Amino acid sequence: MSEQRTQTQSFLDEVFDQLDVSDDVRTRLAQPKLALTVNIPVRMDDGTLQVFKGFRVQFDDTRGPTKGGVRFHPRVTLEEVTALSFWMTVKCAVAGLPFGGAKGGVAVDPKRLSRLELERLSRGYIRGIADIIGPKRDIPAPDVYTNATIMGWMTDEYYQIRRQQTPGVITGKPVHLGGSLGRTSATGRGALHLLQQWAQRQGLQPKRTRIAVQGFGNAGYHFARLAHEAGFRIVALSDSRGGIYAEDGLDPALIMRHKLNRRELKAMLYCDASVCEEADHKEISNAELLELDVEVLALAALEDQITADNAERIHADQVLEIANGPVDAAGDRILAQRDIPVLPDVLVNAGGVVVSHFEWVQNRAGEYWDEARVNDRLKSVMEGEAKRVFALADEQNCTLRSAAYRHGVARIAGAIHDQGTREYFQGAIEGTNVE
Ligand code: GLU
Repeated sequence: MSEQRTQTQSFLDEVFDQLDVSDDVRTRLAQPKLALTVNIPVRMDDGTLQVFKGFRVQFDDTRGPTKGGVRFHPRVTLEEVTALSFWMTVKCAVAGLPFGGAKGGVAVDPKRLSRLELERLSRGYIRGIADIIGPKRDIPAPDVYTNATIMGWMTDEYYQIRRQQTPGVITGKPVHLGGSLGRTSATGRGALHLLQQWAQRQGLQPKRTRIAVQGFGNAGYHFARLAHEAGFRIVALSDSRGGIYAEDGLDPALIMRHKLNRRELKAMLYCDASVCEEADHKEISNAELLELDVEVLALAALEDQITADNAERIHADQVLEIANGPVDAAGDRILAQRDIPVLPDVLVNAGGVVVSHFEWVQNRAGEYWDEARVNDRLKSVMEGEAKRVFALADEQNCTLRSAAYRHGVARIAGAIHDQGTREYFQGAIEGTNVE
């Protein structure tokens, strides 16, 4: 994963070279502002004590308080969280939100914990990082294997520590505990708006657009469900245990109901009559799903799914990055050479943090919006930024990822420039505020 950071850095160097920014921007964005590691003691149900490693990294706060999710996953490391915190910084800038970027994580397999253990771990994590978060400082949210219930526990723990209710400290909370309507489906919904903008531009007809979706967590599920409702053909779905394929299309909402009963998609093969009648599907592996001949490959699982090892075998016409970092730098170069456009994560999955921003605004105003207002505003942010990024890619004849980074980094650079750069202090450019 430290590999990932190096790869990001070399990509970023290209972006800086393209943009006319001060070297100070490069220097400022070379490392995170704050990285905290905590060891979280948790009393387990069997009476033993276990200690879990947790992290919170605040990458850059020039544009506002830092913002980003917390993941619970066995592979979490400080390097991974740092790379993700940088991507959050860029993402918030791409979406035009008044936030910097951060990320958190705990190295744990949450599927092995009881609900009570999970609650104790979530509260312990907040006790560990309480000093560096706050509604005007750093605002956590859900990410891989965390959800609204966990955000509710974390928020409550923060209230206990601070002895006051400040719901703007965490977003993605349950609706009855100050969460925003529309937050749960926001990442998937935002990704669909992106795809629709792209489809319009490329002249893709939803009915003739086959989509394979890797990952059936919150983002993947809502994306698949909404894309199906919008008339796209979802031909394949997978979760961490395997996948299913049906040329005629699958109904994600129905599949989810069965997954909840059976706990894994593969079990669908031996499913009861109702689902088997719904569509004739066959079992496929995750690797097979990635290599399907489809119009759109939507990646909604984890990082590094398309790499130098399999990029030559991708048959999709375009790739939609709903997860963070699912195509690594080497994979990205190969897809670019093969003219397979990649709609990049920092734009495609920004819907989650966009609605997190709406939640934070509602919490601070103490006034709540109806779902239509949330969804309308989400749509207008996603469409507006997508158009800007697409236009930039055309104008500068670069990949969509380069265009998104140029767009986001230009906003971050603007903020850094406004604080004065070496050129300003050395008198090479005129100041307006000191005459
Ligand atoms: N975890 C999500 C992301 O990677 C959401 C972050 C947030 O809402 O702060 O964008």
